Amino acid sequence: MSRQMGDSHRRFLQTMMANGIIDEQGAKTLHQYSCDTHSTQHVPDKLDDFIDAINSKLQPLFMQIRKGMSEDSGHQFYALVDMAETDVTRMSSDYADNELELFRKTMDLIVGSENGKASSTDILNSADTLTTKKLKKSETEHLLNRLVHDKWLSEKRGEYTLSTRCIIEMEPYIRTMYQDQVKVCHICHNIAFQCQICEKPTCGIKIHNPCVARYFKGRAEPRCPACEDFWPHEIPEVRRPQSQSRR
Ligand SMILES: [Zn+2]
Ligand SMILES: [Zn+2]
Repeated sequence: MSRQMGDSHRRFLQTMMANGIIDEQGAKTLHQYSCDTHSTQHVPDKLDDFIDAINSKLQPLFMQIRKGMSEDSGHQFYALVDMAETDVTRMSSDYADNELELFRKTMDLIVGSENGKASSTDILNSADTLTTKKLKKSETEHLLNRLVHDKWLSEKRGEYTLSTRCIIEMEPYIRTMYQDQVKVCHICHNIAFQCQICEKPTCGIKIHNPCVARYFKGRAEPRCPACEDFWPHEIPEVRRPQSQSRR
């Protein structure tokens, strides 16, 4: 199979470098656009082969385009990942030491929580315990806004979660750093933060909310896929990818 990197691949990569992360629909559109612009043949269902060709050239640079799921919507995303630096220090060109310390503390809160969330109150409280240099309340709030803007955190109604970009890029770091705490989804085997948990104490498996929706769809009685106990949580709806035609 051809692993040649052409102008269409370069165009795709440049846009990935500018965006950092892109959803599946966006990646498909960009794939088509990149091929059309450079008059190369566009095979819609060969997006992953197209990306593999780019990845084979990125490997010596310790870069990779990786695919991952949004814990919120269940949709697939592609992120450009620096494989050489998988920990928080990769952010050190954009953030000061005390800001990174607060981000690490926020990760501690999120990973240590049952539901994969940290409240703004808890994060503000942990800002008082910084050892590098204290942050004022207003500085912490400003920092949280920046972290959301730069797509490291997501925020909904004052609660913060790890963003899809953060999970895809920092998965190796999170797995090493929090090996006793972090659990994987029983269905998709990716690390799981926002999820449902089996209530049987000897089982306790985790399943992402979108994976719950897909797994239990059409099943008469929801039972845990591991221990077969009744699954007592509300089953969310499967969310469809946003259509390009709907604006
Ligand atoms: Zn899952
Ligand atoms: Zn169970």
